[in-house]
This record gives sequence, structure tokens and C-alpha cells, in this order.
Amino acid sequence: MSPVDDSVRRYLKQTQELFGDTLYLDGTVSIPEQISMTPEPAIKLSAFHEQIRHCEKCALGKTRTNFVFGDGNDNADLVFVGEAPGKQEDLLGIPFVGRAGKLLDRILEAINLKRSDIYICNVLKCRPPNNRDPLAGEIELCEPYLQTQLELIKPKVIITLGRVAAKTLLRLDLPLGQMRKNTYLYHGIDTVVTYHPAALLRNPNLKKPAWEDFQRIRDTYLIAAG
Ligand code: SF4
Repeated sequence: MSPVDDSVRRYLKQTQELFGDTLYLDGTVSIPEQISMTPEPAIKLSAFHEQIRHCEKCALGKTRTNFVFGDGNDNADLVFVGEAPGKQEDLLGIPFVGRAGKLLDRILEAINLKRSDIYICNVLKCRPPNNRDPLAGEIELCEPYLQTQLELIKPKVIITLGRVAAKTLLRLDLPLGQMRKNTYLYHGIDTVVTYHPAALLRNPNLKKPAWEDFQRIRDTYLIAAG
């Protein structure tokens, strides 16, 4: 539920408690403070979602079940970027809800974060058939949406999950094990590279270096920020 929906629900509940089921309007409708106080990025991000959710710029627009925009805190300091929706994400329209998403939730907990503290999305907003790698043309058409999301959220750090996301954002074609050792800038925002949680499920040996990455993220962007 968006913060706007939440504010409206709270307002209607308060009104119902005061006036019963009749909604009184006296010609001058004052907007409740909760609504006017909604942080601007939330409004802009939901408007942007509305604007692009029927996109069919590439062929994936015709084969997806659901458009998967992103999920989490619209004012997050940390934005996680994956590759593309998988089967569960396509079915539900929410990113990172399958086994890999659940593993990511556990890793976040280990650094004292909840899903609602961060924002998470993918380079592609629609699922490639059979989870194949995104095509260069699909990335080129879809990446501007990601750029706009990041401009609206203005995070302190972007964490790319997996090689495709890192390669797309950083324009680097290096092994992920090499890329994860540095911090980069994407449009002026610190960018850290780590493994996709699906890779950790396939290869448990990667859990140790991934945990080192998350400790670095915690120490640099959470503890340092107080
Ligand atoms: S993948 Fe991106 S560019 Fe392609 S249809 Fe979906 S939203 Fe549009």
C-alpha cells in the first residue's frame, strides 16, 4: 500500500469515528495534514509508476503477466537493483518475492534492516521468458525507467545484485568477483556490487564473500550514518 493510500485510510477512519458513516463536505474540502505531509518522492514515484506501467516498448511487454515496478521505501537511503523479474515476481507484480527474495530478506535482517527500510527494483520491469538473460536492446529501452526511479528516490547508495545489474549500471564487463571489491559512482551515487541472492542459492560458497559485502555496506552506510 502506498503512503498516500495509508494516509487516506487513516483520514477516513478518523472521520468515521467522529461522524459515523456519513462523509460531510461543506464546499471547502481541506486536505488532511497526513496527505499534504506525504513525502514528495512517494507521490512522484507512484505517478511515474502509473505513467509507465502499460509500457510495451520492447517485446517483453507482450509476454509478461505483470509489470514489476519496484517495492519498498520511496525515501530509502539504500536501493537494491537486480536483473529482471523471475516467475514469482511476474505472477505477483512485486520484485524479489521468490526463494532468492526470502534469502535477501534474511541477509537484510542480519544487518538490522527490513524490506520496508530499503527500496528494491530491477533493471528490467518485465520478465524475460524462461528467465533468460536480458537482451542489450531490452536493457537500453528499460534503463531510463531505472534512472528516473533513482533520481526520484535519491539514495545514498545503490547495491547491484548480480553481474547483469552491475554490468548495466557501471558499463563494465568484468567478473563479478573483481567488480565487488570497489565502490563506483552511478550518476553521482555510490554503487556497491555484490552477488544476486539466486547465485547464493545455487552456490553456497558465495555466501561468505556476499556476507563480507553486506558487512561493508552496513559499516559504511548504516553505522557511519548513525
Ligand atoms: S521490459 Fe521495460 S522497456 Fe520492455 S516492455 Fe517492460 S517496461 Fe517496457
